[in-house]
Amino acid sequence: MTLPEIVICVFVFVFGSIIGSFLNVVILRTPLKQSIITEPSHCFSCGNRLKWYDMFPIFSWLILRGKCRFCKAKISPRYMIVETVTAVLYLLAYLRFGSTGRWWELAMAMVLFPILVVLSCIDIDHFEIPYWCSAVVAVLGIASFFIPFTGDHSIVWYERLIALGVVGVMFVILVLIGGMGGGDLQLMLGASLILGYKVFPGLFIGIVLGAIYGSIKKFKDHKIEKEVSEKLKDIAMDWYQEQLDRDVGYVKTGHDDIIVGSISNGQPDIEWEFLDENAWKGIPDKSALSKTVRENITEEREGGFKIFIKDDLVEKVKYSRHMVFGPFLSVGIATAWLIGDIIVNWYIGLLGVM
Ligand SMILES: [Zn+2]
Repeated sequence: MTLPEIVICVFVFVFGSIIGSFLNVVILRTPLKQSIITEPSHCFSCGNRLKWYDMFPIFSWLILRGKCRFCKAKISPRYMIVETVTAVLYLLAYLRFGSTGRWWELAMAMVLFPILVVLSCIDIDHFEIPYWCSAVVAVLGIASFFIPFTGDHSIVWYERLIALGVVGVMFVILVLIGGMGGGDLQLMLGASLILGYKVFPGLFIGIVLGAIYGSIKKFKDHKIEKEVSEKLKDIAMDWYQEQLDRDVGYVKTGHDDIIVGSISNGQPDIEWEFLDENAWKGIPDKSALSKTVRENITEEREGGFKIFIKDDLVEKVKYSRHMVFGPFLSVGIATAWLIGDIIVNWYIGLLGVM
């Protein structure tokens, strides 16, 4: 590398880190419907405004060692991580596309990658990919039909549509099996329009990474999930007995039902609209169940439960913590945009050897 090239790389990295520091604001404020422009940055503990010299991406966090200058409250390393990841992604995109003059592909990376960073973090925080993020990815996907990509992204239009169709069918199955959410589906539909056939290595990477993480998480969460399930079962049994005693129980025996709900930061949300109307004579006391759950399970951040009722008894309760897929799918999409063609060619080469 020559000196000017190194200077450009440093510039791209710094530019990426500045974008990353803006993304931190978007990640924090958009789910709360706060303005991302007008409010000045401040410490969340003491409210002091940050000095201009405390707002250098990456370095300020490192110099302050992750503590507020005024009150020494801990500042999450997440800010620094988001800045670093964005900077590295920009640098990778430049090295891959910029140095060979593939400007449209570089431009796409510079818009797409920040969106992936934002939706990953919001998914981690709120267990939901924001609709506007999937919408932007979809718009980029539609724009891809008209952008004169050079190199390996000059995919014929119908290839994008075929990718869309195949990914759509695959994901509807994955959503129905469980694990994936509607947000994941929307994201991958847009991504398949952008990536064309390269969406498949991306999807493969995303699902494999997600499955590895999911298994580790399942292993770690097993004990707590069992504890919460047992607590919920005790609560549900008492509550259900009360419903039977109040003479609003089953219309006739043998009508089974499943009560579906979720817990978010200790707040239960029970989906009463899914109750089988035939199984209940009257309306069960909904608020009593919510109240007892709220009072007894306070620690849980995010998870879903199912209460199985069979033969006029609470047969079992299954509780499982939620899992996020957005970050893994995002890693897959970014990798596919950068080197999807290399992966596909390598794979085809493998097949050829056999
Ligand atoms: Zn402070």
